[in-house]
Amino acid sequence: MEKPQRPYKSFEEYRTSGLPVGFDSGGWPCTQCRGLGCEACNNTGLGTKEDCKQAYKMIIDEWKKDVEVYKAYKAILTKLTKQEIEILKAVGI
Ligand SMILES: [Zn+2]
Repeated sequence: MEKPQRPYKSFEEYRTSGLPVGFDSGGWPCTQCRGLGCEACNNTGLGTKEDCKQAYKMIIDEWKKDVEVYKAYKAILTKLTKQEIEILKAVGI
């Protein structure tokens, strides 16, 4: 099990990453299409700050949950013997 990587370092990185060429770098991209234009944004590619904040929060919350699972997994490993860990690795956990 790999340690989950934080998907975005900051809200600003989330807002600006993967936007299409020519997208106003100061604008708020639609959370459905990331600025490409879709039904949800009436093909403008634009969304609201509030939607962006909410989407970012959901992504980060998901990542935090994954980190908790990872921590629990690591805590369990410390209680096992080397041999038990080898067995788990052998069966692909
Ligand atoms: Zn859209």
